[in-house]
Amino acid sequence: MATTERDYYLILGVERTATDAEVKRAYRKLAQQWHPDVNADPAAHDRFTEINEAYQVLSDPERRGRYDMFGAAGLGGGAGAGFEGFGGFSDIFDAFFGGGAGTASARRGRPQPGADLRYDLRIAFEEAVRGTDKEIEFTVLQRCETCHGSGAAPGTEAITCSQCNGRGEVRSVRQTMLGQMVNVSPCPRCRGEGRIVELPCDRCRGDGRTERRRTLQVSIPPGIDEGHQIRLSNEGEVGPRGGPAGSLYVAVHVQPHPSLKREGTELFYEASISIAQAALGTRISVPTVDGDEEVEIKAGTQPNTEIRLRGKGVPHLRRSGARGDLHVLVDVVVPTRLSRKARELLVAYADEAGEPVESGGGGLREKLGLG
Ligand code: ZN
Repeated sequence: MATTERDYYLILGVERTATDAEVKRAYRKLAQQWHPDVNADPAAHDRFTEINEAYQVLSDPERRGRYDMFGAAGLGGGAGAGFEGFGGFSDIFDAFFGGGAGTASARRGRPQPGADLRYDLRIAFEEAVRGTDKEIEFTVLQRCETCHGSGAAPGTEAITCSQCNGRGEVRSVRQTMLGQMVNVSPCPRCRGEGRIVELPCDRCRGDGRTERRRTLQVSIPPGIDEGHQIRLSNEGEVGPRGGPAGSLYVAVHVQPHPSLKREGTELFYEASISIAQAALGTRISVPTVDGDEEVEIKAGTQPNTEIRLRGKGVPHLRRSGARGDLHVLVDVVVPTRLSRKARELLVAYADEAGEPVESGGGGLREKLGLG
């Protein structure tokens, strides 16, 4: 990763788990503060450009996802698809960060860092609301226990590369019409590492890493939502020959609830009641994440009435203690089939209320004396 890269989350001053609304709010506030028309600071223009750039990425779910996964390098190509699987992931990561002269020069003479990994974790709807601890198991490249990551056979050491004298890069000078051109590229002999393993460790064949199963406890905070990622730094692959470890991103997938819909911290439940229940009042059972709750429907309740159960929604991820609401949306259902008895009673009701109706035998026109 280029050393000049700025973190978009830091620029906007939001957490990596910030919601779309939080990103938007932070952006608006900063944009107002740093707009070159209102801010006389000479740095305002650059700052404003940077804020906009960060917002362009973080406000777009697909680009934000790629940025979370790969950093700014992930935004360059169209390689959004294909990093789902656990196995092929590090290869694609290498495609972004390996190779190119620009990236190689940023880490010359130093051990390469290990790849980031992604783990897809499925959790239940209630677990996302209440938070949970999960044990995950995966295969990851860890430091070789025989050579302690050096890649050199026990009792030997990696030696300084004689071609680049440990710098990890080689320079070639060319004369051109415009003068001298200096080309800097990673040393081909030590692959930019500056050191060479002469007698490789038997176990890892000089790589300094072996693949092992690993088990980790992951703490899922209450209020997490579909698509959120938890970053565990240093839990990704370790780099070859003593390189630092990458991060493990736990991508959270939340199973839908059979009858509750979630939007951020708010929950929605659609309740159907009959016209008699709406007119006379009743009590209904509403599923919540804390168990079923009895809710009173008052006499005379109209269709599309919303009953709000305060604090029965999803906890805020950022503000501890704060919790959204559960919205019960009441739908009044008109019966399409009536028993003979029910029809008679409804006709009697209509008569009592003075409402002209089709009463089965005689038509409406007849009733109104128009027949
Ligand atoms: Zn080894």
